[in-house]
This record gives sequence, structure tokens and C-alpha cells, in this order.
Amino acid sequence: MKVKDGICGFVVGDALGVPVEFYSREELKEDPVVDMREYGAYNMPKGTWSDDSSMILATMASIVNKKGIDLDDIMKEFKNWFFQGAYTQYIDTFDYGITTSTAIQRYDKGIPVDRCGGSGDRDNGNGSLMRILPLAFIHDIDPETIEKVSALTHAHERTLITCVFYIQIAKSMLSNENLTIKEHIDNASEFIKDYYKDSDEVKHLNRIFEYDFSEGILSSGYVINTIESVVYCLLNTNNYKDALLKAVNLGGDTDTIAGICGGLAGIYYGFDAIPIEWTDAIPKLDYVVSLCEMYEAFCDGY
Ligand SMILES: [Mg+2]
Repeated sequence: MKVKDGICGFVVGDALGVPVEFYSREELKEDPVVDMREYGAYNMPKGTWSDDSSMILATMASIVNKKGIDLDDIMKEFKNWFFQGAYTQYIDTFDYGITTSTAIQRYDKGIPVDRCGGSGDRDNGNGSLMRILPLAFIHDIDPETIEKVSALTHAHERTLITCVFYIQIAKSMLSNENLTIKEHIDNASEFIKDYYKDSDEVKHLNRIFEYDFSEGILSSGYVINTIESVVYCLLNTNNYKDALLKAVNLGGDTDTIAGICGGLAGIYYGFDAIPIEWTDAIPKLDYVVSLCEMYEAFCDGY
């Protein structure tokens, strides 16, 4: 089941990264992550997912409930998460970014849904890229809709293009099972270069288009650094576990980078490639799986 492959792949990556978020690459070289840890950065029990997975689950629940994409309803579910701890394991929201919290608070004050997201240069964090994956499973999803869902919190064009690029990689993986990871990335790159040929912002993805990582991999929360890290980890490993460990041990924004990487690695290698001791370590994973089943039924009937 493809939704379960991708979404569980994401949630496991998020939980793998949470205990070492913002650790440096040097610290992790001394003491690398090799398995699911507990406590650490946020002092949370083993297998705790963060804002990334919660916002994915909120998006999926809204789409299932409304039988389609309803921007106001997605924002209402984000509010339920943000203010009440919905879609978390311990009614405890942590780790959210400023652009996301500002947008949700603006919506809460009555600002129209299409004017809540931040569109400044500094709003190019990975906070919408980290929650966009559910859209990949909707047949015929178009770039404009992906952009609108990103723009609920993150509305800068650089981020919108990056979200469409990520979904295009996932869609290529979902529709052609026989291609290599590099061929899927090439497919997405060609789509973006054509679709956004008039945009000045597309140049920020040039290093990925040319597979030029000579300037190094900066695993920060900046949306471009994040997608570069994800592509680098997928290209330089050949199984789910190694891709995720590589992502986490880059340091920096570990939970989000491992989550985004895990979403694609989950789709590409399948749920059964996720180490069973990692899935077993996630409390409430049965809830995630049941939501995936409802979401897949919605997508199949769409
Ligand atoms: Mg997080």
C-alpha cells in the first residue's frame, strides 16, 4: 500500500531524527545514530514524532473528512494540532517553526486562509515541504494546488517550487516502479525546468539539477539545503535504513530531513524495507496506518 509506504517511511524518519535535532555533524561523527534513540534534544520517549508528522496527519484527516482539498479545513486541523495537541502521541506540540506558528495564529485571528502564509525571503524554511507528501498520492494533483497548500504557511515562490519538485519525485516513483532514483529525480527536474521556465527562483535548484554537491551538504532548515540533503542521501545509499541513517547523521534539522527522505525512501523501497524494530518503536503507529488506509481509499476513488 503506497500511502502506508510513504507516510510510515516519513514518520519513522521524523522519530529517528527528533532525539538529535540540531546536533552538529561533528558530534554525530563521534557518536553516530545507528538505531532509534530515546530522550535527547526534546527529552521525549523513544519513537516520538514531531510537528512534521502531526501536520501530515492533520492534512490527511482533513482530506479524508472533506473528501477533497479544503484549504480552510486543513488550517482548522492545523489549529487543532497547534492549540490542542491533536495528531500527537502525548498531547504535546513541540518543534514548530516561526513561519508556521505565525500563519496559524493569523488564521486564528480571522485573516483569510490565502493570506496567512509568510512570503518573505526569510520564510523559506522547510515547514511546508515537511508536510506536503500526502498530496503525491492524489491522482491528477496539479502544481497550483500544491502551491496553495504550501502557501497556507509558506508562500514564497522558492518554497512553492521546491514543494512541487518533491511531489514530482514522489509521483514519478509511484507511477514507474522500474526506474532508478536518479531517473526519478531527472524526471522531476525536467518537469520543474519546463513548468517554471519563466521563474527567477528555479535557479536555486540548479545544484540538484546538475548533481553538483561540491559546495558541501548544508543540512539546515532552509528549504533548499533540506531538499539537497534529501537528494544526496537517496542517491548515495541503496536501501531505506542506510538512507535514513545518512540523513540523520548529517546533523542539523535531522527530524525534518530524515522525515522527507524517509517519505521517498518508503515509497521507493516499500514499508517492508523499514527495520521492524523502528516501526515497533513508534507509539500509535496503528493510528497512522489506519489513517493511511482511509486516505488510500479516498485517493483510489478520486
Ligand atoms: Mg520536527
